[in-house]
Amino acid sequence: MYRTLSGKEPAEALILQVKRKSGKLDYTPTLGIILVGGDNASQIYVNTKVKKAAGAGIKTHIHKLPEKIPEGELLGLIDKLNEDEHVDGFIVQAPLPKHIDSLRVIERIDPKKDVDGWTSVNMGRMFLGMDSFLPATPAGVIRMLEYYDVKLEGKHAVVIGRSNIVGKPLATLLLGKNATVTVCHSKTKNLSEYTKTADILISAVGMPGLVKGNMVKRGAIVIDVGITKVGATIKGDVEFDEVIKNADCSPVPGGVGPMTVAMLLNNVVEAAERKVGK
Ligand code: NAD
Repeated sequence: MYRTLSGKEPAEALILQVKRKSGKLDYTPTLGIILVGGDNASQIYVNTKVKKAAGAGIKTHIHKLPEKIPEGELLGLIDKLNEDEHVDGFIVQAPLPKHIDSLRVIERIDPKKDVDGWTSVNMGRMFLGMDSFLPATPAGVIRMLEYYDVKLEGKHAVVIGRSNIVGKPLATLLLGKNATVTVCHSKTKNLSEYTKTADILISAVGMPGLVKGNMVKRGAIVIDVGITKVGATIKGDVEFDEVIKNADCSPVPGGVGPMTVAMLLNNVVEAAERKVGK
């Protein structure tokens, strides 16, 4: 029988570590969260972050802004949070409304407070293998693979998706672990030719049913990053029931999602430690 690679246990283990680290500081670290507009999914993600942060000994402060806020005002709030010594790190919850230039907004965040690891400084440092805040989802996937003792060195890892916040940084982190990495995307022809050769297959697309049982090599490790709301349920990219017959596979929900939150909180406590020179 193949393993269901739950994200819950590794996330809880990491949150416990974060709590221990935050308990050693002589103040409670604070995470700022900027939420623009009334996107339901974003509100749910933010609620989860707030709840998990409380359990990890981290305070949160939500800045809820209206959907139609002018970009200048959002940038003004970022400037304020950059300067606010009570805020250890902060994030701008994605997605932003279309009239806002997301890259400009992210670039405005002081890299020392960029606990999502999305600024060019942190991305660039990660690319160069330097100390940085790692983007939470890709770092969460790596942490999850380590938790399940998946060896990466010399293995063929196939990543489906090439976004700036998941696919590309994940490919970089996998390279850093000495995997041989293939990145597939929307223009890739014959996707299954690549996926069938993967020892480790990671899908980060947002298309339910994209990865079917016959696209996966027997004994592979499959990590499903995709999250799509279908009616009242949440679906990943992977046909879990088919794939689990042949390979270890992470579920959705309860897979990468909890790891993402835990890695974010880990970054917050690291930002606090750096601030006080630990
Ligand atoms: P994105 O829309 O920015 O990128 C999607 C990627 O999929 C693109 O690079 C595109 O080239 C590729 N793609 C599209 N159609 C494809 C196809 N038919 N075949 C192969 N590749 C295709 O999305 P993102 O921000 O990278 O997020 C990807 C998914 O992961 C979404 O479902 C998102 O909700 C989810 N996500 C989950 C977490 C988590 O914590 N679990 C965190 C971030 C994102």
